[in-house]
Amino acid sequence: MLARLQKIDPAAKEVGDWQKSYLSELVRKEQYNFDSKAVRQYFAYNKVRDGIFQLMSTLFDISIHPWDTTTWHDSVEAYEVRDNGKLMARFYLDMHPREGKYKHAAHFSLQNGLTGRQLPVSSLVCNFPGGDDGSGLMTHDQVETFLHEFGHLIHHFFGGEQRWTSFSGVATEWDFVEAPSQMLEEWIWDADTLKLFATNEQGETIPDELITKMNTTRYFGRGLNVKNQMFYAATSLNYYNREPDSFDLTRKMIEMQDRYSPYKYVDDTHFFASFGHLDGYSAIYYTYMWSLVIANDLFSRFEKEGMHNRKVAKDYREKVLAPGGSADAAELVKDFLGRPYNFEAFEKELDKGTR
Ligand SMILES: [Zn+2]
Repeated sequence: MLARLQKIDPAAKEVGDWQKSYLSELVRKEQYNFDSKAVRQYFAYNKVRDGIFQLMSTLFDISIHPWDTTTWHDSVEAYEVRDNGKLMARFYLDMHPREGKYKHAAHFSLQNGLTGRQLPVSSLVCNFPGGDDGSGLMTHDQVETFLHEFGHLIHHFFGGEQRWTSFSGVATEWDFVEAPSQMLEEWIWDADTLKLFATNEQGETIPDELITKMNTTRYFGRGLNVKNQMFYAATSLNYYNREPDSFDLTRKMIEMQDRYSPYKYVDDTHFFASFGHLDGYSAIYYTYMWSLVIANDLFSRFEKEGMHNRKVAKDYREKVLAPGGSADAAELVKDFLGRPYNFEAFEKELDKGTR
């Protein structure tokens, strides 16, 4: 990335935090011949949504139908989930930006499932293109985010058969909550999944060559990204493990950035002021990386036995998602994998970034 920057500015000595996305896009385009804009034509919002519904229905043997109900905005859609014909959950999709709306992407549970008493209800709130004509084109990143949030959604409804509300749905340890969602992201790199729904306006299916290119560039910059995530995790932890009146927020952040981040601190900037997870996730931003270790390990069984293997999906649903928070996550993972979790799959993933 520095070499590429020096073509623009021969005097450049290092890559700045604010330059990384732009440079990364240039390198991916020039060295890997991958243009993220070329992929967008295959990701019209409505097709992506229907494709994700189809993937979930086939993999987990459920069906998703429109739910005729009132919503809080015209653009919000409502759906019912049926398991063998039996109503099991309901959810809303509030997926397009509008004035005054929450700006990120998240899953919100609205009602926890309780056996024989109430069904799980939740909502995805995202900001994807689309809206009025529903034909907005998404980036691959956004499609990945959609699937990620859907991972939380299925955890909520598959884990909704509980006696106690505090064990219902996404009620596992915070160390684990991002594992099911991050594992599901894998499917959006899978050719068989993409070919289910990724067609352009002319009806042409996404070409194999483009899918291969996407997968080749996937690991570009992985190491830098992991290091940067470590910086965020260390900042979040080190803001909460001491008395709030005894340290300087900016100085502590610079210290963590020097130690973990590949990018230098930019004078007079205060990243923490817009670090939303500091509030919602408090000290435990590290859950993203830690959950990824477990997500990679969980995925190793699908990788070995087949991403569209319904027996593995059934096992996953029953052993990992259905128990909600009624058992320790480590036990659920062990039950699914047949052994305790380990770091091997994560190390293998990191290693792919070095080639
Ligand atoms: Zn998440």
